[in-house]
Amino acid sequence: MSDNDKPTIDTILAQVSHFIDPGTGAIVPPIHTSTTFARNESYETIGKYIYGRNDSPTYDPVEKLIAELEGAAEACIFASGQAAGAAAFETVPPGKQILAPAVMYHGLQELLRRIAERRGIEVTFYDAKDLAALEKAIVPGKADLVWIETLLNPTWDVIDVAGSARIAHKAGAVLAVDATVTPALTLRAIDHGADYVFHSTTKYLNGHSDVTGGVLACRKADARWEEMKQIRRMIGGIMGPFEAWLLLRGMRTLAVRYDKAASNAMKIARHFSSHRAIEKVVYPGLESHPGHELAKRQMKRGFGGMLSIYVKGGAPEAKLVATKARKFIAATSLGGVESLLEHRATVEGPHSSVAKNLLRISVGIEDPDDLIADLEQALSGIA
Ligand SMILES: *Cc1c(COP(=O)(O)O)cnc(C)c1O
Repeated sequence: MSDNDKPTIDTILAQVSHFIDPGTGAIVPPIHTSTTFARNESYETIGKYIYGRNDSPTYDPVEKLIAELEGAAEACIFASGQAAGAAAFETVPPGKQILAPAVMYHGLQELLRRIAERRGIEVTFYDAKDLAALEKAIVPGKADLVWIETLLNPTWDVIDVAGSARIAHKAGAVLAVDATVTPALTLRAIDHGADYVFHSTTKYLNGHSDVTGGVLACRKADARWEEMKQIRRMIGGIMGPFEAWLLLRGMRTLAVRYDKAASNAMKIARHFSSHRAIEKVVYPGLESHPGHELAKRQMKRGFGGMLSIYVKGGAPEAKLVATKARKFIAATSLGGVESLLEHRATVEGPHSSVAKNLLRISVGIEDPDDLIADLEQALSGIA
């Protein structure tokens, strides 16, 4: 309990905001599979629901929980992170400017390029670590949306949310933050000035590598927000009720999963930070990381569960390590309870700008000593 009796976010998550069904006393919210909702004798809707593509009662507890976690006015879940990103990008009118990081989650960057090209929007990719680069690239009056990601995938650079918000707002633009790898437990982007927050819920929020989904949350439910929700209805980018329920189920353990992943990641980063087969380890929790000081100021609960290692040699050596790992699973994605390791350049494809010797690691909640021993044996043939 914090002061004034308000439960902390750990308690709110574990109890789904102290959910108790008024009709039955059930402490777990139900799944509503109905795709349509009946009207009463006066032909008025009984609740606020009309049709399953518009909205579902199964979404309510999970959207409310995410909004509480983010300190947001509202949250809106989508069929995937990409669908949520598309809804945000679609709100930018033709002739305007979008600014986004030169290195960012590749799927959203590709989507941004396509939407911008077809709709006559100027998209400017800049070095998001450098606020001066944003200041230089932004065109006041024309800029409409600044999209940042922190930590930056897969180099885990720390982006200054408050600084980006100041520059965006001065130019008349809004700031949206892809905070997928820094759940609100450690970074509440809205507290730092963001107007909208994005997560691929496929990652930490669900946390079990078994549901694809995305979410947007807003500082205030303004006209642009209404448009984002309207896009979900219009294109039908909706999450199935069962998936929404699973997401809520996954979120109940977010705090313990996140804390364990962050502490495991710290141990692994420290252990391998001076290893004969490794050129460097990038993890914002290490003092050697260029964003460490900013991370300490901006992230209030550990440095997350993502790190990358640069294996000595090139792509063949890095891939050899990936195939020799036994406890780390060689697969893409992140934020699940199981540790994953991937050769990012292969996953991103021929246009990837990621270093060929980089292995991206998503640390799970296993015993950290098992993970360290496994990576040691996988690296044993190198250098
Ligand atoms: C996975 C991911 C996305 C895309 O989300 P999907 O759920 O795969 O559509 C966007 N941003 C980041 C940082 C991600 O890791």
